[in-house]
Amino acid sequence: MRVIQKNNNYIKKHRKFPILGTTPEQRLQLEIDSLLLLQKQYKCTCGKNAKHFPELKAVNFNKITITNQGLSLNLIKDKIEIYEPIKQFECIHENLKRCKIKYLDPKWTNICINESGDISLIDFEIVVINNEPISLELKELDKKYTYSEIRNKLYKIFLKRT
Ligand SMILES: [Zn+2]
Repeated sequence: MRVIQKNNNYIKKHRKFPILGTTPEQRLQLEIDSLLLLQKQYKCTCGKNAKHFPELKAVNFNKITITNQGLSLNLIKDKIEIYEPIKQFECIHENLKRCKIKYLDPKWTNICINESGDISLIDFEIVVINNEPISLELKELDKKYTYSEIRNKLYKIFLKRT
């Protein structure tokens, strides 16, 4: 397996245009809220003792500094072997459910793998927290998927790429 992980933090800039009826400022807030909730109630139950989500390090105006979680699936060219991926996706799912974060942006660029084979989920701009969608578009999207369907979708995307 050849996955390069930079240990340094990285600064995330948010896209400026509206997405699903949300402003960039609202999406930044959703991401901050999600990461803080996950940090507070985090438990890794898959046996890897991994960090499956980025840690929020700083907030500066329209930018946040978060930990680097490795490479996204779209950037990994080699065939990779990952320890118990089903358990890892279940662990991610359990954390999201515990924190009541419905993750509505499942795609290969948002799934990362580090050099230890830890799977993580990044990019929390398109989410519904605590069953309270902040736009009508998010409300519609939220209705389409259950927590379990999101987990299955993430796992399917992962399988296609590995
Ligand atoms: Zn875990």
